[in-house]
Amino acid sequence: MSGEMDKPLISHCLVDSDGNLAEAPSGAPKVGILGSGDFARSLATRLVCSGFSVVVGSRNPKRVAGLFPAAAQVTFQEEAVSSPEIIFVAVFREHYSSLCGLSDQLTGKILVDVSNPTEQEHLQYRQSNAEYLASLFPNCTVVKAFNVISAWTLQSGPRDGNRQVPICSDRPEAKRAISEMVHTMGFTPMDMGSLASSREVEAMPLRLLPGWKVPTLLALVLFVCFYAYNFLRDVLQPYVQEGKNRFYKMPVSVVNTTLPCVAYVLLSLVYLPGVLAAALQLHRGTKYHRFPDWLHQWLQHRKQIGLLSFFCAALHALYSFCLPLRRSHRYELVNLAVKQVLANKSHLWIEEEVWRMEIYLSLGVLAIGTLSLLAVTSLPSIANSLNWREFSFVQSTLGFVALVLSTLHTLTYGWTRAFEESRYKFYLPPTFTLTLLVPCVVILARGLLLLPCLSRRLARIRRGWERGSAVRFMVPTNPALVEKTSHV
Ligand code: NAP
Repeated sequence: MSGEMDKPLISHCLVDSDGNLAEAPSGAPKVGILGSGDFARSLATRLVCSGFSVVVGSRNPKRVAGLFPAAAQVTFQEEAVSSPEIIFVAVFREHYSSLCGLSDQLTGKILVDVSNPTEQEHLQYRQSNAEYLASLFPNCTVVKAFNVISAWTLQSGPRDGNRQVPICSDRPEAKRAISEMVHTMGFTPMDMGSLASSREVEAMPLRLLPGWKVPTLLALVLFVCFYAYNFLRDVLQPYVQEGKNRFYKMPVSVVNTTLPCVAYVLLSLVYLPGVLAAALQLHRGTKYHRFPDWLHQWLQHRKQIGLLSFFCAALHALYSFCLPLRRSHRYELVNLAVKQVLANKSHLWIEEEVWRMEIYLSLGVLAIGTLSLLAVTSLPSIANSLNWREFSFVQSTLGFVALVLSTLHTLTYGWTRAFEESRYKFYLPPTFTLTLLVPCVVILARGLLLLPCLSRRLARIRRGWERGSAVRFMVPTNPALVEKTSHV
C-alpha cells in the first residue's frame, strides 16, 4: 500500500510532460500541511488537483520532497505555517506536543485535525484528539475533518470510496471555510456541530459493522443448532442404529438441509417483532409508550436479519445446484437403476412425487426471487429512490409474500412425511416440522391483525388515538388562574 502511495496520482489535471503534477495556478488559495506521511502525501495530491497551492512542513524536507507532487512546496515546518491561513495537522496525537514550538506562527489560524485514535486510545483518553489539539493551541481554531477518509480514497479520488466528510468546530466561519474546501475537493461535507462532537466523529472509523453483530450471532446460533439436529438425524442415527456410514454427508448434504432452515426462521424473525409491537399497542391502547428495549433492538435489526436470511437462501440454492455433481449422488442413481433392473421393473414414475417436486422447486424459485427483490431494495441507493409507501409495500407486503411462499415451499418439501413413523429418527421429528413453528405463528398472527375489528383499532392507535384519553377540562376555581389557562 505504501508503495502505491509513493506514486503521484495520475490525473488529467495539472500533469506536466514528466508525469508530475505541475505548478498550481498563481493566486490559488494556499494551504499548509504539517507532516509528510501517507496521509499528507495523498492530501497534498488531492489539494493540488483541486486547484490549491500546497506547502508541506516537514522536520526533514530534503528526505521527503521527492515523494510529493512537483506542484507542492516542501519545506521546514516553521516556513510552511507562516503564510497559509488553513493548516492540516497530519501527524499522530502523540506528536502534537512536538509542534508547540510553532504556536506563535500558528496564532489565529485554522488547524484541521485529521487524526484517528486507535481503539485503545479512544478508550484511554477522555479528551478527543481534536480537543487535545485545541487545548495545546488555544489561539487557533481547530476543525475536525477528513479523518473518515483514507489516504487511499484521497489519492484515488472520491468516486472510489466514502464521499461524506463529517466536520465539527466551535467556530461556524472556520467550519464554513473547510466545508467549501471539502466541496471543491469533490467530497460532501456533513456538519456535525461543535468540537464536542469530535469524539463521536473520531469513533466513526473505529466501528466494525455495527448493527450486524447480534443478527450474525443469531444466524450462527441457528446454524449450529440446526446443523447439530440434522447431523443427529441424517448421520448419527444411520450409523448407530443401522451401522451405515453417512459421514460423507456432512460437508454438502447436511449443510444444504441446514441453510434453508436458518433462512426460513430468520425471515420469520423479521416479521415477528412487528406482530409483537402491534399486539403490544393493541393491549396498551396507545402508541405513546416505549417498547421494551429488547423489542426496540429487535425492530432496529430487521434489515440485517432479512439480508442474512437472503444470504442463507442464496447459498441453499447454490448448494442445491451442486447436489447432482456429487459422486455419491451418481452412485445412488446407478444403484437405483441396478435395483430396478434386478427387480425387473421398467417404469419408476410416481405421479404424486413428480408433481410434488415440480411445485416444490417452483415455490422455492419464487421465494428466492421475492427475497432478492427485498435485498436489492434495502440498498441505500435504491431505498432512497422509493417513497415511503413504495418502500413499505416492498419490505412489508412483498416480504410477507416471501414468507408465505417459503412456508408453501417447506410444506411441499415435507408433504406427508410428518405423518410417517420412519421419519422420526431417534424419536426426533423431521427438521422441517420444527422450522414451520415460528413462521406459522407469524402468518396466523398477521392474519388475525387483518380482522376488521383489530386492524381498524390498530390504525386508529397508529394515528394517535388513545384508549381512555378523553381530555377533561376543569374550570379552575381561582379566577386568577382562569386567565392563565391556555385555550389551545
Ligand atoms: P505517517 O505516515 O506515520 O506520517 C506521520 C508524519 O508525522 C510523519 O511523516 C512525520 O513527518 C510527522 N511528524 C511530525 N512530528 C513528528 C514526530 N515528533 N515524530 C514522528 N513523526 C512526526 O502517518 P499517516 O498515515 O500519514 O497519518 C497521519 C495522521 O493522519 C494520523 O493522525 C492519522 O490518524 C491520520 N489519518 C491517516 C489516514 C491514512 O489512511 N493513513 C486516514 C485518516 C487519518 P516529518 O517526519 O516529515 O515531520
